[in-house]
Amino acid sequence: SMASPALLMRVVASAYSVAEKAATIVRNVMSSGDLGIVEKAGPNDLQTKADRLVQMSICASLARKFPKVTIIGEEELPTDDVTEDLIEGGHCEEILKKPCPAQYTGITEEELVIWVDPLDGTKEYTEGLLDHVTVLIGIAYGGKAIAGVINQPYYNYEAGANAVLGRTIWGVLGMGAFGFQLTEAPAGKHIVVTTRSHSSALVNECIAALNPDHVIRVGGAGNKIIQLIEGKASAYVFASPGCKKWDTCAPEAILHAVGGKITDIRGNSFQYNKEVKHMNSAGVLATLRNYDYYASRIPNTVKESLVP
Ligand code: AMP
Ligand code: MG
Ligand code: MG
Repeated sequence: SMASPALLMRVVASAYSVAEKAATIVRNVMSSGDLGIVEKAGPNDLQTKADRLVQMSICASLARKFPKVTIIGEEELPTDDVTEDLIEGGHCEEILKKPCPAQYTGITEEELVIWVDPLDGTKEYTEGLLDHVTVLIGIAYGGKAIAGVINQPYYNYEAGANAVLGRTIWGVLGMGAFGFQLTEAPAGKHIVVTTRSHSSALVNECIAALNPDHVIRVGGAGNKIIQLIEGKASAYVFASPGCKKWDTCAPEAILHAVGGKITDIRGNSFQYNKEVKHMNSAGVLATLRNYDYYASRIPNTVKESLVP
């Protein structure tokens, strides 16, 4: 029979198209040359015209289709002046054709929370490190991240004129994740990926205690999870407050869908119900494999400095 697709699959299929529209906005704002940079908490906490337009586009597009879903976006913006050209009404047909995992078929709109980071890696975007930038749409149910879409608007931007620019990665717990080639990090090597623009003494102390073979410093929580699932790094370690629920929800769903693990630095899992505190105060520890190796080597002094 041709039963109508489950709500979760309709939301993911729409989020996929909404994230592709978002990527077009991110690229258009950059080519316009007018980034409209505003400082939020300070010079390392920026917002651009792209952050603003993309958030309006994503939130208004998803709210129009799924009016009873709770949508929480990073930026504080007026919600009433979204112009029609920002609305994306499409969906990815291929996602809609896939069966929904049985445990999620009965989910209703009221039970979903969508966490939106319209542009993750804003600091790097303003500095021209374009492939650090991602658009994150995370979908939570029962406090857990169960599905996510990560769009990387400038994937391949240095690969030459014939390369397709940008990509969309998506995943659902119990289904797996798609849009990239799952790759293990080099065996026996400890490659840590961390922040480049939000370092601190504690961040560096924690990394030093892991005695890594190599440290990669790049922007964006989405970008760092991509480094894990493509085998560029073996652990994402960030012993600092600063990351928020919209930074980790989509990346968490995709990482967990391929058997990885993400927690705070003390090993606590993240919660994504709508009442939760936005700040991930106790940092981030994520791996595709060998989570216990890294977790067991985080110093107690570091753990005790970070209060959830
Ligand atoms: P990063 O790894 O520095 O790119 O950070 C990942 C995400 O967390 C980005 O969205 C950052 O904006 C955010 N973040 C991390 N640390 C801070 C901080 N100290 N202040 C503001 N945002 C932060
Ligand atoms: Mg972010
Ligand atoms: Mg952001």
